[in-house]
Amino acid sequence: MRTVPFFDYTHNFMSHKDQILEVVADVGSRGAFIMQKDLLEFEIGLAEYLGAKHTIGVGNATDAMEMSLALHGIGPGDEVLVSTHTMVATASAIATVGATVVPVDIGPDNLMDPKSCEASITSQTKAIMITQLNGRTANMDSINEIVISNDLKLFEDSAQALGSKYRNQAAGTFGLAGCLSFYPAKILGCFGDGGAIICNDTDIYEQYLMMRDHGRGSDGDVHLWGRNSRLDNLQAAILHLFLKSFDQVVARRREIAEMYQEKLGSCEGLQLPPAPNDDESHFDSFQNYEMQAEHRNELREFLASCNIGTLIQWGGKALHQFKKLGLDRTLPAADRFFERCLMLPMSMSLTDEDVSYVCDSVQAFYGQRNLPNDG
Ligand SMILES: *Cc1c(COP(=O)(O)O)cnc(C)c1O
Repeated sequence: MRTVPFFDYTHNFMSHKDQILEVVADVGSRGAFIMQKDLLEFEIGLAEYLGAKHTIGVGNATDAMEMSLALHGIGPGDEVLVSTHTMVATASAIATVGATVVPVDIGPDNLMDPKSCEASITSQTKAIMITQLNGRTANMDSINEIVISNDLKLFEDSAQALGSKYRNQAAGTFGLAGCLSFYPAKILGCFGDGGAIICNDTDIYEQYLMMRDHGRGSDGDVHLWGRNSRLDNLQAAILHLFLKSFDQVVARRREIAEMYQEKLGSCEGLQLPPAPNDDESHFDSFQNYEMQAEHRNELREFLASCNIGTLIQWGGKALHQFKKLGLDRTLPAADRFFERCLMLPMSMSLTDEDVSYVCDSVQAFYGQRNLPNDG
């Protein structure tokens, strides 16, 4: 029987092995491990790719969010709105700077619902941290309207959204700061932890550079309280290599999404995410392929018996459902979504045959065809 893992952590290395080993040899023989030219070159290349002024390589996306909130003065007494369908990291970054996390419900596109967002605004609300989820950028016209009319600060958890655009503008470039993750399973993944901040203000950029390096400036003085959150130079050099072929990665993911759409679009019992060419204002990079399914748990078990890996995001809970965090609110759309959501494999290791096998197996579960018979 064919095996389709949800994510193959060896694939990225094995499929670029020679080029990666060349980069390691080059960086290693220069002894260039911390904040060297490779980091700056990657940051410049990434900013160019995004159409942004600056990017700053940091330790991970969670640090990127914490640093951004702190630099923009978000702290105790301030409420920050987040979609409840996000990683706990979005919320922990807010809690770490001492502000209050307010989860809001999701809309039909499974991202933050502008109506729920507006209804959650109080006199304490200072900011929105929007999660650009699954490689899709939210409808930023609606979000920007709320931001402007309520005088809020906008931050983006764009950890899942590199390559995604709304009206031709890259995710992560809408707010005061965009936060990217290079965790190995992300669309641009490195070989460990890594992240970046996207920033269009040169004064703030200089402060981020100091903040990630213990508050130290190039003059040797310490200008502010910092931390150690530097993107490793070696990781940056490898990421820069991957960035050069990143458009092909996005194109392949969109192709896989199109195949899922063609083969599963008419399958009763499923609600698929928007297809790649559904809507001109969205360009999705398909970090994940997250759908809703009737009999979700049984489907998942059935696919496991076909050697197909699937995942339920965040371990199956929206933010407000983690009882110990004390964020409980009535968010009915998300509650319903989390009874039905499931992610199918979506990665560069998938062959067309793998995708067909996944689709045949899903259809077999819903009784729409015979069990797949793949040698
Ligand atoms: C992965 C992820 C993060 C965390 O990124 P790290 O680099 O691991 O800190 C935050 N938010 C979302 C939506 C993510 O998917």
